[in-house]
Parts: sequence; structure tokens; C-alpha cells
Amino acid sequence: MVTDNRQTQVSGDAGEGTQITGYIGGQPKQRYWTPDGRLILAMPDIHGYGYTDKNGQIVEKGQKDANLDRGWLLQPPTNPKLSCPHCDLWHDTKEEIFQCQKKKKAFDARWQRRAKKDNSVAENAQVNSRIDKLENDLFDIKELLQKLVKAE
Ligand SMILES: [Zn+2]
Repeated sequence: MVTDNRQTQVSGDAGEGTQITGYIGGQPKQRYWTPDGRLILAMPDIHGYGYTDKNGQIVEKGQKDANLDRGWLLQPPTNPKLSCPHCDLWHDTKEEIFQCQKKKKAFDARWQRRAKKDNSVAENAQVNSRIDKLENDLFDIKELLQKLVKAE
């Protein structure tokens, strides 16, 4: 029993060790925090960007980290937001999450209605093509019968 515990201990340490080597070696990772306070280690996602005015003159350009556009922060949030299970983003209040859920339900219902409609269109097409095939088969049989009658 004691040895078992020790083994678990050792493998546990090894697990942590692996994490640390991963952090030191390999790709450089940046610490980010989600607005609800979770820590994320990720590669910075740097993109060049530029804004032009209506004459096509560049008014601003530079590089930005797309992870920050995602809403991630470079410091732990001082005033953590609530994570939203409906949109996978964050909201300030429970009321906003409730509204988000309502919006998502309406959106899902709309998509479901549309999917059902598409489905019935597809089913109709299938039924129509089967009727076409049956009609052709019947025509062939009729022709065959006529031939048989004439032959007699
Ligand atoms: Zn939401």
C-alpha cells in the first residue's frame, strides 16, 4: 500500500515536471486570462493590420494579437465577468446571460424550422423521383404487354 502511494506520488511529480518542461522548451507561450478569470497558456496569435481612409491612405497600421480580440486579457481580470454557457463568451450580469439564452433559443428554433423545411423539400424531391421511376416502369410494362398482345 505504502509503495503504491509513493508510486502515485512519483508519477504525479513526473506529470508536473512534464508540464514545466513544456513551458520552458518548445513554442513560447504567453499567459492570458479569460474575463471570467481562467488562466490560458497559448501562443500569441499576431496578425498585421492596417486601416485606410476613404482615399486609400493608410491611417494606421501595426500588429495585433488576435487572442486579445478574442476577449482574453494579459492580466487577471480585476472585475471578473460571468462566463456564458450559451455563447461561450462573457457577460457582466446574470440578466445578460438570461437574455443571451433567450436569443440563442430563438435562433436555434429558427434554424430548426429551416432545417425541417429543407428536409421536407428533400423528401418531396425523393418522392417525386420515385414516382417518376414508377411511371417509367409502368410505361415499359404497358409497352411490353402491347407487344405481347400484338404477337399473339
Ligand atoms: Zn452569452
